[in-house]
Amino acid sequence: MQFVPALLPSLIQAIDQVIETNAEEVTALDQAIGDGDHVTNLQRGIKALVAQSDELAQLDWVAAWQKIGMTMMTAVGGASGSLYGTLFVAMSKAARDRPVVSRAERTLDLQAFAEIFSSGVDAVKLRGKADAGEKTMLDVLIPVAASLRQGAADGAALADVLGNVAQTAIVGMESTRDMLATKGRASFLEERSRGHIDAGAKTSQLMIGALVGVLRSV
Ligand code: ADP
Ligand code: MG
Repeated sequence: MQFVPALLPSLIQAIDQVIETNAEEVTALDQAIGDGDHVTNLQRGIKALVAQSDELAQLDWVAAWQKIGMTMMTAVGGASGSLYGTLFVAMSKAARDRPVVSRAERTLDLQAFAEIFSSGVDAVKLRGKADAGEKTMLDVLIPVAASLRQGAADGAALADVLGNVAQTAIVGMESTRDMLATKGRASFLEERSRGHIDAGAKTSQLMIGALVGVLRSV
C-alpha cells in the first residue's frame, strides 16, 4: 500500500461518517462529565476538512498536515480544537524535518509515519500539559503511537499493525472509564468523573478505527 495524500478524501469521509453515526452516544458522554459540545465542535472541523478534501489530496504530507492542523485549530474550537490542531501541525513539522520523507513521491513508510505521529502526540502532551492516565484523548493517542512504533520496529505486516492499532485504541478508550479526570472540564467533577468514558478518547478511538478500516481496504 502506498500511503499518499490522495487517500485523504476517503479517510476524511470515513471519519465524517463514523462521528455522525456515533454522535448521540458521544454527546451523552460529554454531557455526563463535560459540557456536551464535543461532537458539534469536532463536526465543524470535519465538515471543513470535507470541503477541503480535493485540495488536500493534491498536497504533499507536510503541506496537507499543516493545512489540516490549521483547519482543526480554527474550525473546531474547545479544548479538542487546539489539541487536534497541535497534533497535525506538529506532524507536519516532524515530516518537514525528516530527510526520508520523499516530498516528490509523497509516500510514507510505516517507520516514518510512526515517528511523525509520535512527535505529534508529544506535542499534544505539551500543549495540554497532560499525560496518559488523566482521562483524555491521550489515553488513546499515546498507546496508539507506541503500537505503531512497535509494529515498525518488529517489521510486522501492515495488516497486523493496523489490527493492533485498532485494538489498542479500543483498550485505551475503555481504560478511561474508571479513571479520575485530572485535565479538562471533567476534572471539575473530581471523583464523580469516574464511571464514564471520556468523550475525546471515544472520538479518537472512533476516528482511528475508521482510518484503519480505509487503510485495510486499499
Ligand atoms: P471543551 O472541553 O473545551 O468543551 P471539547 O468538548 O471539544 O472541549 O473536548 C473535550 C475533550 O478534550 C475531552 O474529552 C478530552 O479528551 C480532551 N481534553 C481536554 N483537556 C485536555 C488536555 N489538557 N489534554 C488532553 N486532552 C484534553
Ligand atoms: Mg466540551
